[in-house]
Amino acid sequence: MRVVVCGGGVIGVAIAYFLSRRGAEAIVVESTGIAHAASGKSGGFLALDWCDGGPLSALARRSFALHAELGPTVHGGGYRRLVTYGGHGNGSPAAGRRTDGWTSTAVTLDRRLGTPETTAQIDPAGFTRGLMRLAEDRGASVRPGRVTGLLRTGDRVGGVALGNERLEADAVVIAMGPWSILAAAWLPLPAVYGLKGHSIVYRTGDAVPPEALFLEIRERGGPEASPEVFPRADGTTYVCAISSDSPLPVDPAAVEPDPGAIDRLAAIAAGISPIFASAPVVAAQACFRPVTADGLPLIGPVPGVGGAYVATGHSVWGMLNAPATGEAVSELILDGASAVDLAPFAPGRLPSFDPARLAAR
Ligand SMILES: Cc1cc2nc3c(=O)[nH]c(=O)nc-3n(C[C@H](O)[C@H](O)[C@H](O)COP(=O)(O)OP(=O)(O)OC[C@H]3O[C@@H](n4cnc5c(N)ncnc54)[C@H](O)[C@@H]3O)c2cc1C
Repeated sequence: MRVVVCGGGVIGVAIAYFLSRRGAEAIVVESTGIAHAASGKSGGFLALDWCDGGPLSALARRSFALHAELGPTVHGGGYRRLVTYGGHGNGSPAAGRRTDGWTSTAVTLDRRLGTPETTAQIDPAGFTRGLMRLAEDRGASVRPGRVTGLLRTGDRVGGVALGNERLEADAVVIAMGPWSILAAAWLPLPAVYGLKGHSIVYRTGDAVPPEALFLEIRERGGPEASPEVFPRADGTTYVCAISSDSPLPVDPAAVEPDPGAIDRLAAIAAGISPIFASAPVVAAQACFRPVTADGLPLIGPVPGVGGAYVATGHSVWGMLNAPATGEAVSELILDGASAVDLAPFAPGRLPSFDPARLAAR
């Protein structure tokens, strides 16, 4: 069985990994680079029970367990458990460092949101690339190129087109993150939108302990921001905030921060801890999380088209939910059913996007 997976973000890579574990041939077609988009620029924060009480609960709990299993085997994946706090601050960059901690005296941590039993993290780029290498060890491959259409015979898909080239397959999975919207021109698929976020990665050495923070910070003269702070095992610390509704560029390689957004984020970070005011910046970047109309992912067979599957729209939980999505999609393709119930994520629950609107964008 040969499966072409369109998109080399964490979702496409996880699908290829679990297919390869079952002996299927998985080819990941990626236009820019493995983990070049959100899957390399996200927080990489994982939580066992933060999706409890909703349709994502079983997927998230299975995925948290799979991350724990995969952690030691994914080279460079940066998996570790951490404690997670919530709090607030007035954003003053002039405030000094607490004597009893690493944050600013202008920040108050007043809630413990997670323990090492319930919260963990990965390095998103390292995890995605490391998982792809494990898949390659089992026979999967990466095919650089841009998917431009599908090979179809009647109501069955038989592969993908990469410009003038054809790549035949028994099944095709659309996992192009927010760019999955382009596949609505080829298949009856609901809309997927891109919601932009900004982040800075600082080199902080051992100055920041393994404590994730979810904060509310009043920007000076501005609105309330909700920064998230994730110190990583490699001695860097990731800080993200500032969502925007800037349009998704057609080319994933063309994503850039909005004008002024990185300066705003740097000021917010300096108000969280004086460490960020002087630490070297490793990366200052933006990316788009894929979102759907009802906030739930699209995972499953495309209705009415044999051999076509979709896995996207994971919004703020794509890094967390990638392993269970990969496992479930591999089971769907190879066995016709998955252990985790995918009914809440059925693509047919939402109306198909009208491809005529793509041309108008
Ligand atoms: C600021 C921010 C912080 C986040 N933090 C977290 C977090 O802490 N924890 C968490 O669980 N999630 C987090 N997320 C969400 C997570 O990053 C995403 O849900 C996840 O990365 C989506 O993965 P994906 O594989 O669906 O898409 P992407 O990572 O966008 O990958 C899609 C891939 O498809 C490729 N592609 C596009 N078009 C084509 C084409 N025509 N042909 C071939 N390839 C194509 C692109 O180049 C890209 O590599 C965060 C997101 C953002 C924006």
